[in-house]
Formats: sequence, C-alpha cells, structure tokens
Amino acid sequence: MSDAVMKYESVIGLEVHAQLLTNSKIFCGCPVAFGGEPNSRVCPICLGMPGVLPVLNRRAVEYTIRMALAVDGRVAETSAFARKNYFYPDLPKGYQISQYDRAGEPISLAGGIEIEGEDGPRFVRLRRIHLEEEAGKSIHNEPGYDPDLSYIDFNRTGVPLMEIVSEPDIRSPREASAYLARLRQILQYIGVCDGNMEEGSLRCDANVSIRQPGDPLGELVEIKNMNSMRSMERALEFEIDRQSELLDDGGTVVRQTRLWNEEKRETFPMRSKEEAHDYRYFPDPDLVTVEIARSWVDEIGETLPELPDVRMRRFVDEYGLPQDMARQLTENRARADYFEACVSHAADEASGRTVDGAANEARTVSNWMLSELLRVQHENRMDQQTLEARIPSDHLAQLLGQIKEGKISGKIGKDVLDNMAETGKAPASVIEEQGLVQISDTGELEGVVDGILAEHPDDVAEYQAGKTKLLGFFMGQVMRATQGKANPKMVNELLRKKLAGD
Ligand code: ADP
Ligand code: MG
Ligand code: ZN
Repeated sequence: MSDAVMKYESVIGLEVHAQLLTNSKIFCGCPVAFGGEPNSRVCPICLGMPGVLPVLNRRAVEYTIRMALAVDGRVAETSAFARKNYFYPDLPKGYQISQYDRAGEPISLAGGIEIEGEDGPRFVRLRRIHLEEEAGKSIHNEPGYDPDLSYIDFNRTGVPLMEIVSEPDIRSPREASAYLARLRQILQYIGVCDGNMEEGSLRCDANVSIRQPGDPLGELVEIKNMNSMRSMERALEFEIDRQSELLDDGGTVVRQTRLWNEEKRETFPMRSKEEAHDYRYFPDPDLVTVEIARSWVDEIGETLPELPDVRMRRFVDEYGLPQDMARQLTENRARADYFEACVSHAADEASGRTVDGAANEARTVSNWMLSELLRVQHENRMDQQTLEARIPSDHLAQLLGQIKEGKISGKIGKDVLDNMAETGKAPASVIEEQGLVQISDTGELEGVVDGILAEHPDDVAEYQAGKTKLLGFFMGQVMRATQGKANPKMVNELLRKKLAGD
C-alpha cells in the first residue's frame, strides 16, 4: 500500500448474494442443484417463455425471514416483487424479478451484525435483505467447449437468490472479509445457504470510496467478479490505492462499475455500454403482494438454532474455555455439535472414574479437536461429514478415556487416531489389534530399563558425573525398545531411581 492510503479513510458497503438451499427454484418447480448436464433443469417458466405465470416459492420467503431474524432485521408486513429490466444473454425474459424499495418493500429492512473491526468491535448496519431470481450462467472458453463460441446454461436461472445489502459501515478490506465471513457463518448456521464461494452460491459486489476523515462520503466505485474472500480483499486494496493516487494527483473519482482481474491483480472499468443502466423498475403484474403474517414470523423464529455468537459465549461460560478456542469450535455448526456430543460422551465415560466433570473433559476434547482432529482431517482431506463418519464423537471420547486411564500414552493415542481415521474402527479395537496397550507393569519395565542401562555404561557414567541431560537419551532408548508403548511417567521414575544408584 502506498503512503497516500494512510491519509484517507476507506468506506465500504457490500452487496452479498446468497443462493438459497430450497429444493426447487423460486418461481417454478425445477430442482435446485449445482452443476449437472447443462439445460437439464429448465421449464418454460424459468426459460422466460411468453405467457407463463410465476408462482412464488414459500420456502424461499421463509429462508429470507430466517435470515432477517438472525440479524435483527425488521420483517415487512407486506412485500412485493418488481421487474428489473435489462438485456443480457443469461436473462431470457429481458428482466429479472427482484425487489426494490420504490416498487415494493423488500422482505427485511435494517438490522446488522457485529464483527471484529480494526480497532475493536464494529457494528455493520444492514440496509435491506431482498429476494430475487438467479440468472443463467455463460460459459466462455471452458474445457470441453469450443473456445470460439459462447454457451449458456439455464440450470441456474430462477434459483432463489437472497441479497443482503449493508450500509457503508465497513472501514477496511480486512473488515470486509470479516463481515463476509460472519454473514457466511450465520447463513450456514441457520441452514439457508451452503456458503460455497467456489461454486458461486455465495457472491459479493463491493462498493468502495475514500475520504478525508470527517468529510462527507466520497464517490463510490462498485467492484464485481470477485469469487473468494482473498480476491475481494485484494480488489479492495487495489481500488483504495488507485483512488488515493487519483485524489493525490488532483483528480476525482468517477462513479463506475469495475471488474476484478485475478491474473493481473487489478480492477478495470466495465464497458460503459453495459453500465449505463436505467432498469426502469416497476411492480411485477404477474405476482401478488406477499402478506407476511406475524404468527408465521414468530413460528420461524422458534425454529432458529442458537446463533454462533451466543453459542461461543455459552462455550466460554459453560465449559470454561478461552474465547479464541470457543470461537474456533463454533466456527461452524457441525463442529460445535461434534464438540458438544463428544464432551457429553466423555463425561459419561468419566462418570465411574473421576469427579472433575464436564469442564475438564471439555478442555481435553477441545485441545484434541483443534489440534489432532484438524490435523487428521487435513492430512486425509476429509470434509466434516466424512470425518464424522470415520471418527464419530463417541469414538473420540473413548480414545480420550483410554489415554486418561493410562491404557495408552497420549503419543500412541495420536497414532490410534490416524488409524481410526483410515479404518473407522473404535479405539479399543485398534489398540487391541495393533497391540498398543501401554506397558505399565513395573517388573516388565524394569527389565527393559536395566537392559538399556547395561548396554550404555559410558553414558551412565557421564550421567552420574553430572550430565543429567542424558535422561532424555535413555527415555528415547526405552521408548524405542518398547515401540513407544512404555508408560513414560513410570519409565522416567525408574530411570531416575536406577541412575541415582538406588
Ligand atoms: P442502492 O443500490 O440501494 O440504490 P447505493 O448504490 O447507494 O444504493 O448502495 C449500494 C451499496 O453501496 C450499499 O451496500 C451501500 O452501503 C454502498 N455505498 C453507498 N454509498 C457508498 C459510498 N459513498 N462508499 C462506499 N459504499 C457506499
Ligand atoms: Mg445496488
Ligand atoms: Zn423451471
């Protein structure tokens, strides 16, 4: 970033598009799914044939209300759809059915979410959440297609799309990422969008301007075409630099839409022809006004799960976990569920053994999940579902129980976990089959220790002359001789005793 950037404050507002996880499209019965044979999930309605009538998908409205409630939005009593007129090959009707303040109230207004800002918590207000239909997908220059032709796939046309528009309350590219990550987390928690940016089910346009602190808002530039958080951050950084240099050189920022080029790492203006939009919004005469009954909103509210922030705080209070650990565990709902299931199994396992209760178990489970389990998941490239199928939460709890009881060492436990990830077996069977039970028999260990000491008389002499660091060497030898199965605590004690000449 150039020095120029420091003088200015950046102002960012995001328009986030989330594909909803409904079974069918927003105005017809065609199924919603990613990929598949192009143009295999289409009908006269989503192809925009003349004379057809759209019928609103109730579930899409429900999901939008769910999101509104999750971000404290104000759900409208009546909401309407408008036609946004423009021509583009991926839009067969020549207009997109959307919602617009001046032609019908969007489903939700106001609300907001809190993120970790540059200097403490920042509250980003939302302007509105509305519902619209997804456009088709143009295919240029993709494997399997003639590079001289453009193709169009209408499978995506009519997939319900929820647009979440923020106020310009974001102050840096990093905050923009934090905001988007937060939205994605909430969308996933409440189960309305899978949040997959690679597949395009979550996308974002970023509006950015700069100003001297305290000045009114500057002229904004909208950046489109960013398909990951990283490219959004880069695009915003580039654009803030560009605008700063413009102002420094005595120029002005022109309001325009720019696209992000990932290879060149720069934004460039969209052709002005495509940009000169006058959408001539007007109420869609094919769709009736939606009346949203308060009782329905209340019903939906009752089905909302515990939201990530609340759950994070509960993990701190209930399990005594540090905040950053609680945050990692609640990053997604599946992980948080797994954690709680595991803690409850672990507490059951422990009930006949100790009295230290759930908090203690929670810390152990959390340590293992955030280090070993993540490692295993990463190394085996398993998604959460596969991980849970291979290592169900009760198996992890059993493994931790075996370690706690001293049946195996923590180190062996890691190998057992690797094996569990590969085979899906319960820890007891892995330990049994591989003969990994920890040697805690004093007589047996003594024999091994004596043997090692007898093999290394010089080292014993050095140790006794004061080079006590050699203890580690002896430990290593014993462990090697027992394939890591010796109870380390006992070996340590035995070695010290024998070397001291007791
Ligand atoms: P709309 O498209 O709703 O008519 P705008 O174009 O003003 O309204 O707002 C679109 C997005 O641009 C919103 O997310 C808003 O937060 C953001 N925005 C508005 N003004 C600015 C600005 N000066 N700088 C940065 N972002 C802005
Ligand atoms: Mg807009
Ligand atoms: Zn259809």
